[in-house]
Amino acid sequence: MTTMADARADIVPHSLGAKVLVVEDEAPLAEVLRYNLEAAGFLVVHAANGDDAELLVAEERPDLILLDWMLPSVSGIEICRRLRNRSETRHVPIIMLTARGEEADRVRGLATGADDYVVKPFSLPELMARVKALLRRASPERVAEVLSAEDITLDRAAHRVTRGTREVRLGPTEYRLLEFLMQSPGRVLSRAQLLDGVWGRDAFVDERTVDVHIGRLRKALIRGKESDPIRTVRSAGYVFGDRQN
Ligand code: CA
Repeated sequence: MTTMADARADIVPHSLGAKVLVVEDEAPLAEVLRYNLEAAGFLVVHAANGDDAELLVAEERPDLILLDWMLPSVSGIEICRRLRNRSETRHVPIIMLTARGEEADRVRGLATGADDYVVKPFSLPELMARVKALLRRASPERVAEVLSAEDITLDRAAHRVTRGTREVRLGPTEYRLLEFLMQSPGRVLSRAQLLDGVWGRDAFVDERTVDVHIGRLRKALIRGKESDPIRTVRSAGYVFGDRQN
């Protein structure tokens, strides 16, 4: 069976795994941003107004937000202020997008708590570089080229997984699953979180699918007497790199 997520993983082999929320009411620009971010391996969610943006921030927990200043009804500045006032979103990296370039606006944008500020029309390579730089500072494990825990190494640039000196061959879904687990070592991830992170919210797969792919991942990772790097937490989910011995 080939799922949509499998196909997408094939197209984007160097996934960075991070989720970016694009808040932009100009549809063509939103599309350009989505296209370029997805091509760079990011997961993208889009909101065209402030109310949707706040909902998506709560539901999707993005790793970074591209926030347009001029939005219908609630302005980007106001959304930024609200996000900074809430403890769960206080530290989400925010890049403001704006047509205004005056120094006073720039100062106001940064004073509200935005981490960076890009004036339209901006160059896409420059914006992408800033997105990556900000993520590297805020959540280094999301953009690290190599993830490693215990004797397992996942090299994103080479799209290669090794255990000790042995190369581990994984299908695209198992690769993404391992990548997602290795981004949060020691943390219990629920089946719903794994579904969202690996298959995406729009995929029509149920939670038992997660168990099937965890099974395949374990089979590929474990040879002979090697330990199981994934622990099943009864009725809660799975945790990577948290052996209890
Ligand atoms: Ca706008």
